[in-house]
Amino acid sequence: MSEKVAIAFHEKMKQYDLGEGHPYRGDRFENAIIFFKSQGLFNLPSVLEIKPQPASQEDLFRVHERNYVERIFRLAKEGKPYDFETPVSEKILEAALLVTGAALDCGRLVLDGKVRRAVALGGGYHHAGRGYGGGFCLFNDIAVLIEFLRTKYGLKRFLVLDYDVHFGNGTSDIYYGDPSVLYISVHQDPRTLYPGKGFIHEVGEGAGEGFNVNVPLPPGTADGSYLYALEEVFVPLAEEFKPDVIIGNGGSDPHFADSLGDLNLSTKGFFRLSCLIRKTAERVCDSRLVLMVGSGYNPLVLPPCWYALAAGVVGLKEIAVEEQYPVPQEPPHCHRTVEKTVDELKRLLRKYWSCFGGFGINVVP
Ligand SMILES: [Zn+2]
Repeated sequence: MSEKVAIAFHEKMKQYDLGEGHPYRGDRFENAIIFFKSQGLFNLPSVLEIKPQPASQEDLFRVHERNYVERIFRLAKEGKPYDFETPVSEKILEAALLVTGAALDCGRLVLDGKVRRAVALGGGYHHAGRGYGGGFCLFNDIAVLIEFLRTKYGLKRFLVLDYDVHFGNGTSDIYYGDPSVLYISVHQDPRTLYPGKGFIHEVGEGAGEGFNVNVPLPPGTADGSYLYALEEVFVPLAEEFKPDVIIGNGGSDPHFADSLGDLNLSTKGFFRLSCLIRKTAERVCDSRLVLMVGSGYNPLVLPPCWYALAAGVVGLKEIAVEEQYPVPQEPPHCHRTVEKTVDELKRLLRKYWSCFGGFGINVVP
């Protein structure tokens, strides 16, 4: 088994540029790569830089409705937006297919044993559902990766840890009734942020009941409370569910200086988060991990945060990154609120999971 870690990036990803004045600009990818290089990440013998191939329509059809995909391709040709904040063009479409292809290439390399873990730069378009886009997202590359791994490699159990500051309504919708995908989303309280969903009582439906786990955090939540929630929810669930692979998604938008969210993670907090995901993957799924890193709306903090996430996957022991702004204190009520949310969530999920005191009746054999 290779000890290498792949980082997938294509220079054409910069075409995913939603325009002047839009928070999602295409320079994010190159700025991140420049920062990675300044830290010597690509000089490490374990790091393999790969240039992804674009995803095909066939890959998209495993998840998305045919007429939705055809509509996006048509809008791209006409240069018309999908909605007011999600423009589409031939260039954006080409970049979206490369971003999705990066996830597929990462999954392929991990499953073929060519690398142990992988980082798909630009990935994590979690607001896209089977038949809709929005929130800057066209194709749900997380689900496209899952269905690729299911079809081509016969994987049966997938754990998605969505640590983006926003709730991933698209991913959640796609797998709401599916017990083969345990979707855990840690995000800012949806009463205070787009898309306004992702409450703890949304636990999935039918056979998928108990397999959708939302951990909403109050604005201001900082490293300690954030990691506490992960240790209490993500780690025991991962150990009980025993996925074939862990897929993480999220960029720098939970950072305290991000312009869209109000969580208070520090750059070091991202590193600790990423190390926790890597160590959990080592224990529960033979290290198989793909991290999809795409969001972030403060261009000053995006490169170091993406670096912190990538460095955790690579397995660095520490990072030397200066914070760009003074680190704020967590508001005094935050930790107590997080504890209460975690306790209530465990009570709600108890009947599905023995790690929370139940019998684990829903676990797929
Ligand atoms: Zn986000």
